[in-house]
Amino acid sequence: MERVAFGLGSNLGDRARFLRDGVAGLSGVLEDIAVSGFWDTAPIGPPQPRYLNAAVTGRTELEPEELLAIAQKIEQRARRVRTQRWGPRTLDVDLLLVGDRTIATPALTVPHPRLAERAFVLRPLAEVAGDWVVPGAGVPDVTVEELLARLPLGC
Ligand code: ADP
Ligand code: MG
Repeated sequence: MERVAFGLGSNLGDRARFLRDGVAGLSGVLEDIAVSGFWDTAPIGPPQPRYLNAAVTGRTELEPEELLAIAQKIEQRARRVRTQRWGPRTLDVDLLLVGDRTIATPALTVPHPRLAERAFVLRPLAEVAGDWVVPGAGVPDVTVEELLARLPLGC
C-alpha cells in the first residue's frame, strides 16, 4: 500500500459542504484516512472569492492515474465548471504526493508542480503529513513542514 496525499479547494457556494463532499468521496477509496482542518485562504490568480482549503492523506493500492481519474470524478460530482485557469471553482481536487514517487506525464505531475510554493496547500498538508519527505524538493531531504517554513512571509 502506498501513502498518498490530496489537496482540496473550494471558493464558490457552500465551500465547507463541497470540501466535506470531497473528503467523503476520497474516504471511499482510501484506508487510514486523515483530514486536515479547513483553512480560509486568499486567492491566487485572477480576482475571485476566498478559498477554503484542506488536505487528505490515506493509503491505497490504486495507481496514480486511477487516483487522478477519481479526483476528477469527485470534482465533476460537485459540478465543477472549468471556465478559466486558476479561476473560481466549486471543488478542486489535486493529487499532491504518492509515497516517494515522482511522475511526469502529460496528464499527471507528482509531486503536484506548485506544491512547494503554495502556503494554502502546504499549511493543511503539514497538519496531516508534516514529516513527509517531498521527492525532488531538495538535497538533503526536505519535508512538508520545512517547505512551509521556507516560504516567504505573506505567501
Ligand atoms: P489547478 O489545480 O492547478 O488549479 P486544474 O485543476 O484546472 O488547475 O488543472 C487540472 C489539470 O492538471 C488536469 O487536466 C490534470 O491532468 C493536470 N494535472 C497534472 N498533475 C496533476 C496532479 N498532480 N493533480 C491534479 N491534476 C493534475
Ligand atoms: Mg486541480
